[in-house]
Amino acid sequence: MGRLLQLLTRASASGAWWPGCPEFSLADAVPSVPLKVLLVVAHPDDESECAATLYRITHGLGGVVDQVIVTNGAGGQHFSAPGLEYYGLSGSPGVAKALPRLRRREVMRAGQIIGIRNHYFLEQDDTGFTLDPAEGLRSWNLPWIRRQLQHLLQCEGYDLVLTLLPTRDTHGHHKTVAMLALEAAAAMPCDARPAVAGVRAASPAGGALPVFHELDGFPGTRTTSGAPVWAFDRRTPLLRNAALDHSIIVHWVIAEHKSQGMFQMEYGRNTHEYFWQFATGQERWDGLWQRFGEPGPVDRQLAGAEAA
Ligand SMILES: [Zn+2]
Repeated sequence: MGRLLQLLTRASASGAWWPGCPEFSLADAVPSVPLKVLLVVAHPDDESECAATLYRITHGLGGVVDQVIVTNGAGGQHFSAPGLEYYGLSGSPGVAKALPRLRRREVMRAGQIIGIRNHYFLEQDDTGFTLDPAEGLRSWNLPWIRRQLQHLLQCEGYDLVLTLLPTRDTHGHHKTVAMLALEAAAAMPCDARPAVAGVRAASPAGGALPVFHELDGFPGTRTTSGAPVWAFDRRTPLLRNAALDHSIIVHWVIAEHKSQGMFQMEYGRNTHEYFWQFATGQERWDGLWQRFGEPGPVDRQLAGAEAA
């Protein structure tokens, strides 16, 4: 893996899942080959945006999820006081230096909850909040990041790459990372190119979802539709106990990121994880539908649990 750091490995079971849901309901299938997913994000708490879906893939249906974290997570200290107090670091002169290490541990603990197999830390400067996607392009070692992403895609043969949806109002680093992930996918030969989707957590009660066609000036981020193609409801019951649902997993994940300040306020706010399909890798989606087929026993089990 070159300089990529493989810091956490978990065995994966067989089996996988894929949702086929034009009207945003979830349909699970029983596949013959595990689904392999690569999540590519900027910061060590970004995986929370799709934590319930990822948990479902790894725990409910036996798929494999790896995660690339591009920055070192040193930014965003304004609201970290409660977390620093918890860790006994309040007023410590070494906080700025300790934060990336602390956040690496936090994301690994969160990853253990979700069932992430490998974490890859690319350790680029986290220059703090910006809306400008060019900041990452200016600050990071782009040739090296591109090489690592392409190497990973070539070696692992992922079915699907996930990024955060690069809407205008999101962090500039999220936009930059989405562009780099899409670029890496586009560089793959057509027959080996993964499908790519952008995710955003939201609640139907919280108002209209964003319409996203592409990020201005970056046509590589074009989607096949302004609306999401599917969603996962975090209130979907857990397979082990139908009285409990996937929102518990999201809460566990958020609770691991104690140093992230305002992010902690996301607790319970979003009920769904929405996914937009990018045009890059579009040809792979047809194959995925065919591969995962019609809803199987897992779906019926869920339906039964919900009816009960
Ligand atoms: Zn972020």
